[in-house]
Amino acid sequence: MSGDEFVERVFLNFGAKNVFEIAEKVGVKIVYQKWFPVTLGEFDWRTKTIIVNENAPIPLEKIVAHELGHYFLKEFKIENVADEESFCDEFAVEMLDRLRIQI
Ligand SMILES: [Zn+2]
Repeated sequence: MSGDEFVERVFLNFGAKNVFEIAEKVGVKIVYQKWFPVTLGEFDWRTKTIIVNENAPIPLEKIVAHELGHYFLKEFKIENVADEESFCDEFAVEMLDRLRIQI
């Protein structure tokens, strides 16, 4: 499954106006912290929480979209992804494109 097909699937189930609303719909909490910008964000499956690094030099919605990719991969039990990080990057780009078109 490609990133855009996956986004389509997420939208069919959890369509919303923005990534923050999608997170809210699926019960994923978002926590904002500041740390030295080595990583942009993290997803803690145990507590279903996205931790966003406010020091990150990219828009925070892009970080949330990427981390939601990790969440949905696991939620939909998709395991045949060669490189999860690249897949989530692609997912984030497609997701934000899709949200812009929607407006
Ligand atoms: Zn990642």
